[in-house]
Amino acid sequence: MTTLGQSCIRRVAARVAYTISVALIAATSLLGQQAPVALTFLDVGQGDAIVIRAPDGRFAMVDAGRGSPLRQLTRLGVQELALVVASHAHADHIGGLDDVLTARPVETYLDNGTPHTTETYRELMAHVERLEVRYLEAVPRSLFLGEVAVEVWPLPRSSDGQNNRSVGLLVRYGEFTAILTGDSERSELDFWLNEGVVEDVTLLKAPHHGAVNGFTYEFLEATDPEVVVISVGEDNSYGHPRPEALAAYTSFADRVLRTDRDGTVTVLGYADGRHDVVLGDTPYVDMARRSVQRVDSSVGEYGEIRVGTGLSDILSVSVHPDAGGDDWENLNDEYVVIENRSRTRLGIGLWKLCDLSSRCFRFPPGASIAAGRRVVVYTGYGTTDGVSFFMNNGRPVWNNDGDEATLFDSGGIAIARYVYEEE
Ligand SMILES: [Zn+2]
Repeated sequence: MTTLGQSCIRRVAARVAYTISVALIAATSLLGQQAPVALTFLDVGQGDAIVIRAPDGRFAMVDAGRGSPLRQLTRLGVQELALVVASHAHADHIGGLDDVLTARPVETYLDNGTPHTTETYRELMAHVERLEVRYLEAVPRSLFLGEVAVEVWPLPRSSDGQNNRSVGLLVRYGEFTAILTGDSERSELDFWLNEGVVEDVTLLKAPHHGAVNGFTYEFLEATDPEVVVISVGEDNSYGHPRPEALAAYTSFADRVLRTDRDGTVTVLGYADGRHDVVLGDTPYVDMARRSVQRVDSSVGEYGEIRVGTGLSDILSVSVHPDAGGDDWENLNDEYVVIENRSRTRLGIGLWKLCDLSSRCFRFPPGASIAAGRRVVVYTGYGTTDGVSFFMNNGRPVWNNDGDEATLFDSGGIAIARYVYEEE
């Protein structure tokens, strides 16, 4: 078992937490669900570029289109990549990878191990070597992005070109599964059926951009996808997707999405097997917006909220650090208020509230904030009634002259922060 990017994500957690991942995590918590794995099929014209975001915030990317996908990665909040996969060495899949490797730290790079004659391929491999990215060849193995398994399928030995040496991946998160197979054609699809690695899945990326040689009824019967995503350019010269392929996909899947018409497509997969589709370039933010009711954001009575993009819609944290009289004698007049501004109860069991010097209070399992209500965390002693919580500290926690209160979810991702200074 290979676990990817643990160190990576710790480093970036602080940086990304306030933008994209926060909105996603918060939104999904509000829906009473665990955070999903997100597979985003970027609209890169004719080509493939897929971003996988694990529930713990780690990112992987499979192919990168022909041109640079950096602007799209920035919009998605992708700062580092635990894993980059090149499905095969054609330019509509690896053309953008050079830029990705140059601009983002990448921990592991995996490809089909089949050299190609192009300059694009040679330059890419030179980059992998120069940047000292860990190189893996696609042999049967499982890579892990937290709880998300990326299972690499075997490759056929005899090759009839790059397409039929496309890396086959099965992405698994609980009951949710997705198959990504680059530009594989019939012979590779048949090979995998014979190998017995194919299974019923939630999501299938149409092999080879919806080409007529990219599907077989046997493969579709075995995978029986609920959603098919076709990554394809508008008015492309190949005539992808072909009507025969479209008809086949439509006959199996409830939904067939295509990047030439739908733009960037994100499929969210939940551990219990359910899925959701979000269209557009900012799927995580859009999802958060859809699931919360906007209300006026009132700033705490002390200082101001400076960070927490997307969070002021849902959760607010404010600190009352200066207790009446002597702080040491009046510990429960030092407190933090956390308000849930949404219309849905928000689970905060095992979440942590920490000060700048990492003194933390952990909420008990099952703790929650009712819709539109607040909970208060007092510094001193007491017994919780589910609304009032007590740090049970014998000394003040929140500095009167400035401090930060950060709320982390149970996975350690920063959800909201309140920064204050003496006024
Ligand atoms: Zn292609």
